[in-house]
Amino acid sequence: TQSTRPQRLLSAVQKNATRGDPRSVVKAIDHFCRHKEWAMNVGDEKGCILDSVVTEVNPHTVLELGTYCGYSTVRIASLLPPHAKLITLEFNPDYAAVARQVIAWAGLEEKVQLVEGASSDWIPKLKEQFGIQTFDLVFLDHWKDRYLPDTKLIEEFGLLRKGSVLLADNVICPGTPDYLEYVRSSPQYKSQYFKSHLEYTKVEDGLEKSVFLG
Ligand code: SAM
Ligand code: MG
Repeated sequence: TQSTRPQRLLSAVQKNATRGDPRSVVKAIDHFCRHKEWAMNVGDEKGCILDSVVTEVNPHTVLELGTYCGYSTVRIASLLPPHAKLITLEFNPDYAAVARQVIAWAGLEEKVQLVEGASSDWIPKLKEQFGIQTFDLVFLDHWKDRYLPDTKLIEEFGLLRKGSVLLADNVICPGTPDYLEYVRSSPQYKSQYFKSHLEYTKVEDGLEKSVFLG
């Protein structure tokens, strides 16, 4: 029978990671992607930068755009304080099904709400559907041409407060030039680049952290 890369990634988690241990889930995925099959997770190197931003912000509410197999979801959720919530959006139902199992294997289903559908459909409904006021942290990692329009939607629907942090992956590779230009030139943001490498490669990539100034 045929299997997909996300299904093989899930099998590697079930074989090699300890249930209820998020770090072992992250480690099993990184090992699979370095030694078996590359996959578009934020990865171990940029993942350390992600972890440090999550720890610094100590968010109560997090929005993630682009779940894929739940790798970054697990990294973020495992660092959240008690009662914090992570909403993660994924429009591919096959990826979402795998991610649900990865998140459950890590024991993090209480902290994570995985919502299936397109970001542009859900962002306008997040306040009323999930009782959200604002997000303390937004992790952008979906299709790269959506970063800028979705950021503008997030602003328009009042989902940011003074001090909210946007963290964007892959700003160099594949690259998000219109988004970078926007956050770097807008007086509404204080923006900073964290240089790193594309997941599981030596190609330059990095994360852009942008604090919303209101
Ligand atoms: N954040 C994940 C990680 O680091 O483990 C990787 C996410 S992957 C790079 C991007 C994902 O975003 C894909 O699974 C894709 O199906 C999803 N996606 C792309 N555009 C989307 C959109 N507009 N709404 C919801 N999901 C989207
Ligand atoms: Mg990415």
